[in-house]
Amino acid sequence: SNMRLEPIAACIDRVRHLTESSVTSKGHTLDVEPVDDRVLIFMDRDKIVQVLLNLVRNAIEAMDEPGHIGVRTRISPGEVTIEIEDTGCGISNADAVKIFDPFYTTKERGTGLGLSICRKIIEDHGGSLTVRSKLGVGTVFTVELPRGHGE
Ligand code: ADP
Ligand code: MG
Repeated sequence: SNMRLEPIAACIDRVRHLTESSVTSKGHTLDVEPVDDRVLIFMDRDKIVQVLLNLVRNAIEAMDEPGHIGVRTRISPGEVTIEIEDTGCGISNADAVKIFDPFYTTKERGTGLGLSICRKIIEDHGGSLTVRSKLGVGTVFTVELPRGHGE
């Protein structure tokens, strides 16, 4: 398996670099809270990068006007919580129950597979992926992952 005990900070750094140019070219700002290098997660690193990348890309796609994306990480004894926040279009309550369904998309060229795959990956890691949103205000996706063993 590709499961290893690795720093979550490295994943977040990687996602920041991968999204930097599309963030700035659209006039958005991306604010990533620094994360302690010693915080480890037992994970398939590429899969967790894939999840965070999907969430930041969705955030970019949700903002027609220049906006803001925040990535904030909270550390507790048992888990790591990563919040990806945007000032985009938001999601109505009616749509919020459908966005994790495979093939549900509101985009002309969307696949609707991103969030269902993200949730599967996070649940395979023993965690959860949830959303809260306000239409016209913005959206926060919350990734919760259990802390690595053997720290
Ligand atoms: P896709 O990006 O291909 O449409 P996803 O599974 O990634 O598929 O997302 C499904 C739908 O959820 C999107 O089409 C969009 O309507 C909604 N969505 C996802 N992320 C956001 C966000 N950050 N802000 C507003 N809507 C979102
Ligand atoms: Mg998507």
